[in-house]
Amino acid sequence: MAPLMRRAFELCATGRFSLETLSAEMYGRGLRSRNDGRVSKTTLAELLHNPFYAGVIRIRRTIQTFPGIHAPLISKALFDHVQAVLSGKVHARLIVHEFAFRRLVRCRTCGYSLVGETHKGFTYYRCHTTSHPVTSVREDAVEAELRRVIALLALNDDEYAYARRRLELMSDQDLEARTSYEETLKLRMQRVESRLQRLTDAFLDDVLDKDAYEQRRTGLLMERRQIEADQAKGPPDSVVRAQSILRYLELGMTALSQYNSWTTEEKRDLIPTVTSNRMAEGRKVVFTLQEPFLTIAERSLVPFGGPFRDRPRTLDALIDKLVHWFDANPASIGPTLQTTEDVLGDEEAA
Ligand SMILES: [Zn+2]
Repeated sequence: MAPLMRRAFELCATGRFSLETLSAEMYGRGLRSRNDGRVSKTTLAELLHNPFYAGVIRIRRTIQTFPGIHAPLISKALFDHVQAVLSGKVHARLIVHEFAFRRLVRCRTCGYSLVGETHKGFTYYRCHTTSHPVTSVREDAVEAELRRVIALLALNDDEYAYARRRLELMSDQDLEARTSYEETLKLRMQRVESRLQRLTDAFLDDVLDKDAYEQRRTGLLMERRQIEADQAKGPPDSVVRAQSILRYLELGMTALSQYNSWTTEEKRDLIPTVTSNRMAEGRKVVFTLQEPFLTIAERSLVPFGGPFRDRPRTLDALIDKLVHWFDANPASIGPTLQTTEDVLGDEEAA
């Protein structure tokens, strides 16, 4: 707790954080509320206003302060500076949106988020932990790494056209299969209904006694319920799945071709969508793609002979893998892709 609180004061003193973003940052660094969540803005403000940390004990009722007997966690100067930042007396440098990759890259050594800062006209992302060798990556290196992974995702026009035709063909076949599946169920339902009708007629004509009637009727009603359940479930909706796969394929192509015109926010949205890990060590930064983008990126690694002749085989394998992946991850089939806001919380939306 103590080192974390000292860090909270230091970060607050930079003037780069609102209480909201500081709370998120401190959560990433391990500061937890009593119920293991993020410390609320109110609690964080109370902590940062509490002179206890500067070695002064505050008696709330009388608003008197006494020099404390415990060793101060932070200097009086830092405490006073933080009070000034919190009250807005120090003009906090409002650069929250200046650092495109803030909170998106972690230090491989200690796991903390790198903090953006400018030095001699360059932007750097640096780990503030002092107990290990310096990790500080220049922004253009982060940008280059992002471009590198995006380039792996971009199908060329021929590849895309082939994938699209293949997916459309699969959808058509599945539509036919779906139609015949629904037809079969409808016929079964009609048979059950007419048997129920004949059964009732037989009972009313005194051909069947009540027990035999009830017994057969129960069996038919159960069969009807099973058919209704099958109708409701249906086969997997491959048309929607095919559209989802195409959208994921298009994302990589669009990202590469339009990269230069993307805003900082669009890049920040893209990063957690396509990558699972952004790690820095020393001056190096490495992005790791997450599924299904990893599968898309690895399509060309399939070691077949001539690139031209075997391209369809490579793409067929890719599409099969994507279909399997989407069947195993149905939540990814839908109208939207995950964004930075989903991953980091809604304080980024402000
Ligand atoms: Zn570190």
